[in-house]
Amino acid sequence: MRLEKCYFCSSTVYPGHGVQFVRNDCKVFRFCRSKCHRAFKKKRNPRTVRWTKAFRKAAGKELTVDPSFEFEKRRHVPVKYSRELWQDTVKAMKKIDMIRVRRQNQFITNRLKKGKELRKEADIKEVEKNIHLIKSPAVGMMAKKLEAKLVEVIHEEDVEMMDE
Ligand SMILES: [Zn+2]
Repeated sequence: MRLEKCYFCSSTVYPGHGVQFVRNDCKVFRFCRSKCHRAFKKKRNPRTVRWTKAFRKAAGKELTVDPSFEFEKRRHVPVKYSRELWQDTVKAMKKIDMIRVRRQNQFITNRLKKGKELRKEADIKEVEKNIHLIKSPAVGMMAKKLEAKLVEVIHEEDVEMMDE
């Protein structure tokens, strides 16, 4: 069973799915669904269409340089399998997939964390900039009143002391 990659969105094309277009120079284009085929016929560039893998990779939305991808590349070379070798390969493939998924998720969380930090920074800056909107002028007045009262109390105490 050969799993192909969609020319447009790079998702897996399973046997019996999608369409295949062979150009008159023998280059084969495979599409996972009519959505991708249509986009191709409209001469859309996958790198500029936001939902494709090509765009996501180009825009730094996904992990692109990782040794776990090397294994996938090697898998495209056909190998003659014995039963044991096949079982080992299946095991290794599963493990590699797990590792890749984990790294991919880590990458995404890191990316989101960065955005969170930036947003927090921007929020703090905005608050600092517009602090006068938050700080009610009453606060200043209250403080002044309190101060006046304190001064009064102290004066009274002084007066009392002088009386004694
Ligand atoms: Zn596709």
